[in-house]
Amino acid sequence: MTRLIVMKLGSALVVDAKRAEPRTAWLHGVAADIAATRARGTQIIVVSSGAIALARHALRLTQARLRLEEKQAAAAVGQIRLAQAWSEALGAHGLVAAQLLLTLGDTEDRRRYLNARATLRTLLSLGCVPVINENDSVATAEIRFGDNDRLAARVAEMVQADQLILFSDIDGLYSADPKIDPHAAHIAEVAVLTPEIEAMGGDPPAGYSSGGMRTKLLAARIATQAGTAMAIALGHRDNPLAALEGGARCTWFLPAPGGRSARKNWIAGVLQPAGAYTVDAGAARALARGGSLLPVGVRAVSGGFAQGDAVLVLGVAGERVGQGLTAYDAEDAMRIAGRRSEEIEALLGWRGRDEVIHRDDLVLF
Ligand code: GLU
Repeated sequence: MTRLIVMKLGSALVVDAKRAEPRTAWLHGVAADIAATRARGTQIIVVSSGAIALARHALRLTQARLRLEEKQAAAAVGQIRLAQAWSEALGAHGLVAAQLLLTLGDTEDRRRYLNARATLRTLLSLGCVPVINENDSVATAEIRFGDNDRLAARVAEMVQADQLILFSDIDGLYSADPKIDPHAAHIAEVAVLTPEIEAMGGDPPAGYSSGGMRTKLLAARIATQAGTAMAIALGHRDNPLAALEGGARCTWFLPAPGGRSARKNWIAGVLQPAGAYTVDAGAARALARGGSLLPVGVRAVSGGFAQGDAVLVLGVAGERVGQGLTAYDAEDAMRIAGRRSEEIEALLGWRGRDEVIHRDDLVLF
């Protein structure tokens, strides 16, 4: 039985763009869905967009693309209205809304990640419905998710949700863009996220919504690797969660088999690794067999990372092999790259670990 669902609602659903008002009647339907689902014993976390869209008209920021400062200002104005709309809609169904504004740093830094997770768990145990958005007003370009699809996936991974549902203006993934190609076929289930499926993401759309299919497929990778099933479903209709439970058409992405530990999920989910190791074919084979990354297999080191940072592991052709926590900073790693572990002490003047990335700190893609 499903116990915890994270559902993400995009700006186009939450906000009536013409009137620049929350879609109150629809929000009440969603709140009714949440109340009914909770009454059956399933917890719900909402990730809601809409802060920026809600403030655009009031601030006369109606051009398609906003500058970062304008987004930050719009979010500061709109987030209050968004929170109020959720608080009223959930309150009408006897539920207490709890607002959480997260930045990329809150999910990339292990200590802050654990802290946010503890807060979410406490809120759920107190019977609240967490309503999450990105903290757009303080997030700068470098530390911004920019889309709530990946934010929702990181939240789902954080709380080990059973399901992540991305409600959108489309009822799932198609073999091509159905707005352009009339022969585009709907895909009901994705068992394995192959490169072919990931290539279906295409470019992000212009205008108010920031994600498009591309960020939804990135979210699918994070969620399914963490053992969470993910759906892309149509959200525009009234009571979208009830419709989905009633069998409405959508795309399900099945969780990857052999769920990882929570710690490995966190390592895999770091979105901005601090650098990369390029490894030779022999090392890549050793990693695939469950081995650690030894300095002898490292061909190249890039980035300015510190010991303990998450770094990418790339194959000789630049393909993504995995991601792990490095036992050496970039400078030392460059000194020992391509050398045998017995040489480490002579090269660095101190005896570090034999592995550049220990297998306990490594996840393969
Ligand atoms: N955090 C943004 C907002 O609330 C939306 C991001 C997105 O569209 O995914 O306006």
